[in-house]
Amino acid sequence: MRLFGTNGVRGVSNEDMNSELALNLGKAIGTYLEKGAKVAIANDPRVSGEMLKSAVISGLLSTGINAVTIGMLPTPALQYYVKKTDASAGIMITASHNPPKFNGIKVVAGDGTELPRSEEEEIEHIYFEESFRNVPWNEIGRLREELGAGDRYIEGILSAVDRELIRKKAFTAVLDCANGASTGTSPQVLKKLGCRIISLNCQPDGTFPGHESEPSPDNLKDLVYAVKETGADIGIAHDGDADRVIFVDEKGNYIHGDVSLSIVAKQVIKEKGGGTVVTPVSSSSSVEDVVKENGGKVVYTRVGAPIVARKMIEISATFGGEENGGLIFSEHQYCRDGAMGAAKMLEIMAKTGKTLSRLVSEIPRYALYKTKTACPNNIKEKVLELLAGRLSEEAKKIDKTDGLKIYSNKGWVLIRASGTEPIFRIFAESTDIETARLMAEKEKSGIEKIVKEIG
Ligand code: MG
Repeated sequence: MRLFGTNGVRGVSNEDMNSELALNLGKAIGTYLEKGAKVAIANDPRVSGEMLKSAVISGLLSTGINAVTIGMLPTPALQYYVKKTDASAGIMITASHNPPKFNGIKVVAGDGTELPRSEEEEIEHIYFEESFRNVPWNEIGRLREELGAGDRYIEGILSAVDRELIRKKAFTAVLDCANGASTGTSPQVLKKLGCRIISLNCQPDGTFPGHESEPSPDNLKDLVYAVKETGADIGIAHDGDADRVIFVDEKGNYIHGDVSLSIVAKQVIKEKGGGTVVTPVSSSSSVEDVVKENGGKVVYTRVGAPIVARKMIEISATFGGEENGGLIFSEHQYCRDGAMGAAKMLEIMAKTGKTLSRLVSEIPRYALYKTKTACPNNIKEKVLELLAGRLSEEAKKIDKTDGLKIYSNKGWVLIRASGTEPIFRIFAESTDIETARLMAEKEKSGIEKIVKEIG
């Protein structure tokens, strides 16, 4: 049985994500750790945050763990705290970009990275067995509150960029915090970088009255409008727990995450005169194009931010990130960090003297076509294997890092099995959308044929 998904444990508050689950998960995490260890806890402003936090803390204390609450903060601020202090682990109460009725519990390892799957499995095992450590009355853990974790995080970001250079430019930024966890930190970061700030949804509110907390084009219409109306240099938006950042250029164009990833990757590699960038196989070829052009190389991983972060540590990579606005800076910390990404983008604008739209125009443009097709879970592996054996002559190279990625002269097609549904997701990237569509449809019919044969 699985409890943890790709982003911790998630569910609807007071339904599957309830106080009993939080209490027992707190006990399981506490049992997994050494007695007397210190665990830091933070939450986003979701309505159920305090309820779940109290239950997790109660569970932790009952196993002899000492708990420290550091307040309502972004996930990367908790990760930064855990990395910089003697905390053995961190627990983040958040459902990131999900609608307000959801909430979740995510565990952070002692070095500030997301917990590897193997350790989650051990916690799951304790949880399902209910083999909790129950300490005697005089060994029950203590709870204290620590203020200042947010300030420490802000200083960490400012020290990782050329603060003075950015200040001199006095940028005007429209900031949309989605009423989420960044409301207490990102405005401060921008202020200290000398920005004139126009704020949208910068009050914490767990009902997310402004818009839902996924920074999608649909949800950021107000941001686009505000950038255009005010003549700002940049629009900046975070998801609910602010581990991601999405930008709007000075003309009011929404910048897709793979483009901002490419802009940052290009600059980082240019400055270092080379290096390695880690990104999942699903990322646009534009990343590899700009990295190679500047003397660096790209290492591909399976999809998932913790996987990218672990690979970066393993190979001492320079930079890493995902196409959804998740940017990982090795000089700062090995996790996605939305405010750090924003500070870095301002630094790039300051250093190059270029507007954001100009930086975007210098990135190669590709079109991505997405589709899906049904396939029973039990034959998914076999289908991919057969498909790989039947590729047409157009296929130049295949990559089996995550599913099946087929490269041709026209671009690539990525076929990945969904972890939750009996479907394959098919992504195709080419220079134009019609070619991408044809490439995706061709593999889709290939899969359908195989499913019919063996299904
Ligand atoms: Mg998030």
